[in-house]
Amino acid sequence: MTEDLAAGITPDRVAFTKRIEARGHTAFVMYAGQVCRIVDVEGKQVADLVCFDLHDHTDKLSVNNTMLLNGTHLATTGQHLYSTKASVLMTIERDTCGVHDLLAGSCSEGTNRLRYGVRGTPNCRSNFEAALAPHGIPLAEVPYSLNVFMNVPVTEQGLSIQEPTSKPGDYIDLRADRDLLVAVSNCPQERNPCNGFRPTALDLLVYEPDSVAETA
Ligand SMILES: [Zn+2]
Repeated sequence: MTEDLAAGITPDRVAFTKRIEARGHTAFVMYAGQVCRIVDVEGKQVADLVCFDLHDHTDKLSVNNTMLLNGTHLATTGQHLYSTKASVLMTIERDTCGVHDLLAGSCSEGTNRLRYGVRGTPNCRSNFEAALAPHGIPLAEVPYSLNVFMNVPVTEQGLSIQEPTSKPGDYIDLRADRDLLVAVSNCPQERNPCNGFRPTALDLLVYEPDSVAETA
């Protein structure tokens, strides 16, 4: 666990912490008001994230509505993550990196086969499938992701995947605006600069907001 993972957060406010090893995945429940901190432990590591209304899995992250309603394809502090039904699912409360992606989707068996001629490689879509199967959500119902720390600049030449700008210890804080089921894939991609060609661990910390601690 990174030493400064919980910087500024008193221990009584920590709901849980979790390390996602390189190429790994996880799914977890967050309640409205809780904040999820995703920490890039060594730097240059992408976290693909999807989320669902805990009580209505058909209302789930829509990167399209997120870009439409935020008015930008960039994601950073103050912006909301919107659902397929245009509900606010999450809000970005803090962001020490500032470079994330909503355009590039998630790596998959199919895209790895088409782009690199390889089969059976670890990929984010398969990670989501494994993480969400215990929650009764099949792969076909998993939306495309917010890609935390992914660097996909848009230029006149088009889209390209570049190495992340995230440094060791960079983090993003995502507040749950309703009860959520969240899944994170620690992106296993090694065949392009997405993760600096070296997948590494991520740390997660879910904590209670200030107001809860103050009134407790
Ligand atoms: Zn990936």
